[in-house]
Amino acid sequence: MSTANPLLDFSGVPRFDAIEARHVTPAIDALLADARETVERAATETAPATWDNVIEPLAQSLDHLDRAWGAVRHLNAVVSTPELREAYNGNLQRVTAFYTDLAQDLRLYARYRALRASPSFATFDAARAQLIDNELRDFRLGGAELPDEAKARFKEVQETLATLSARFDDNVLDATNAWALYVDDERELAGVPQDVLSEARAAAQADGRSGWKLTLRMPCYLPVMQYAESRGLRETMHRGHVTRASDEGGKPEWDNTSTIDDILKLRREAATLLGYATYADVSLVPKMAQSADEVLAFLRDLAARAKPFAQRDYAELTAFARTDLGLDKLEPWDVAYASEKLKAKRYSFSEQEVRHYFTEPKVLAGLFRVIETIYGIRIREASAPVWHPTVRFYELVDRDGALVGQFYLDNYARPGKQGGAWMDDAINRRGFQGRTQHPVAYITCNLSAPVDGKPATFTHDEVITLFHEFGHGLHQLLTRVDVPGVSGIEGVEWDAVELPSQFMENFCWEWQVVEPMSAHVDTGAPLPRALFERMLAAKNFQSGLAMVRQLELALFDMLLHSAYDPRGGGQWSTPRAVLDAVRREVAVIPRPDYDRFMHSFGHVFAGGYAAGYYSYKWAEVLSADAYSLFEEHGVLSAVAGQRFRDEVLARGGSRPAIESFVAFRGRAPRIDALLRHNGMIES
Ligand SMILES: [Zn+2]
Repeated sequence: MSTANPLLDFSGVPRFDAIEARHVTPAIDALLADARETVERAATETAPATWDNVIEPLAQSLDHLDRAWGAVRHLNAVVSTPELREAYNGNLQRVTAFYTDLAQDLRLYARYRALRASPSFATFDAARAQLIDNELRDFRLGGAELPDEAKARFKEVQETLATLSARFDDNVLDATNAWALYVDDERELAGVPQDVLSEARAAAQADGRSGWKLTLRMPCYLPVMQYAESRGLRETMHRGHVTRASDEGGKPEWDNTSTIDDILKLRREAATLLGYATYADVSLVPKMAQSADEVLAFLRDLAARAKPFAQRDYAELTAFARTDLGLDKLEPWDVAYASEKLKAKRYSFSEQEVRHYFTEPKVLAGLFRVIETIYGIRIREASAPVWHPTVRFYELVDRDGALVGQFYLDNYARPGKQGGAWMDDAINRRGFQGRTQHPVAYITCNLSAPVDGKPATFTHDEVITLFHEFGHGLHQLLTRVDVPGVSGIEGVEWDAVELPSQFMENFCWEWQVVEPMSAHVDTGAPLPRALFERMLAAKNFQSGLAMVRQLELALFDMLLHSAYDPRGGGQWSTPRAVLDAVRREVAVIPRPDYDRFMHSFGHVFAGGYAAGYYSYKWAEVLSADAYSLFEEHGVLSAVAGQRFRDEVLARGGSRPAIESFVAFRGRAPRIDALLRHNGMIES
């Protein structure tokens, strides 16, 4: 293959300084052709099936396709341009079609089965055996056993679903970017923090306008909802936010209503073709949880424990809003504002006050110190081509100086970048021909950029987000598995994937971690101990409300993919009816009729969390329980850290998550630590 196309250069990390939209189609052409040829060879090989003639050649070819396509997908998410989006969407269907073909290739399926039945299978290590079993499972779920006619339809359904998911995301991004509120009267912005105003002022100037430009991107939206004294302004922003990409807001072509219906209909059809009653049944096959009923029972048990706490939280907030803020009726756009005021009154600090103590350089140094101490590794800045001048690149090296992995850190929100925070793999670890290919990760956040020549400052929540994404990153980077498909986060059950990330969040509540990573942006003084104690006291402020909100989303998702049936009547017949039923059961805060949050619920309609949103809570049980070993040994315990690295992070998907957990913790998971961390049982 020619290396004139930078997407076809696999000698190292992606050449982000050279990749352009015009490279995408020729690169994908070449890689798909190569992959098809490799599949053909592996599938038609007449010699007995071996690791070297089935798995190895495919792994090499697919690794290249994944790396190149991964770079394109990443660029489209972080520096989207019309050209890139067109190149991405134009090739998405072809790439999806290739994988669907692969998953349905009966000849290849037969080769895997032959390998599974061969005497050599008994000699494979756990990782290789796990990979082969995963592949066989995925063949079945990919439609390999379907009769021809059903197979063609199944493929069509998969391709349409991929297109619909991309459209769902595009609609949300377009609707978010198009929404703007220009404010000329400064009095209307009373209460909004100064740094948010500076950014809003700069954004208006960039549009050639006077005044301030408010947007629905998180670094603007959230502080306005928390601090703006103008109730009308909050209501306008709230309505804009919860009606994005819906029949209640934005251009009609961005309305996700029919996209949602079509996605659900096609998911159900795919499940039916595979012989399952519901999409939830399909989704749960490769997960840790065994059935929709088990998940629903788990969520409802938590909901029953949390709801009294949520009701107490809400009653307190309503009473406070009436007596202290003169708000007789607490509206949804008052909740964040009143909460912030109540929190400030009760614990006498605000997120904005805390934020001034968390500057980006100190936070990163503190985060790196935790990682270096518990895992015995070093992190050092290095150089590599990047897609935006604010992106940084780092290396992880072991005690003996050996390279472990590398990662990109893209911290700031900007136009053309998808919202939220996430980790994605750039390169997966694998061994071939006696060499090790080191893992590389993308860590992406949407934090506030530095303004006015000062370092960026983060709220404590944003610090937690950063720790969270690094948890995913370390799962990807600290793997010792050389087998493709089960190294790093590959092959890890969805409902266990948040274990390492949520685990990392706990460190943000330890004084010995927080003190050294804080320094006031103006004075350099560390976070005062008394302020930290108040933050700690406030930690479980409204934890009941937060938990029932997560449970509402998780139940909605699971019921949407199990109980929802447009052919029936009653409470499960439309997505909206399902949501209403869930809200009656668990929600505490009423929402306006125009609320269309589901139209931007990308996790479930565009991401991989369909019938899987419960994973956050499921994994939180695991992560809280895992962290309790650090509470027992000392939070920066290298002994506990080594064991976590060896038994959980290093193993990746090479064995079931429950086995890794038990090997680390010495027993099955318990719910107690999660309840204790949320203030729902006595410690
Ligand atoms: Zn996560």
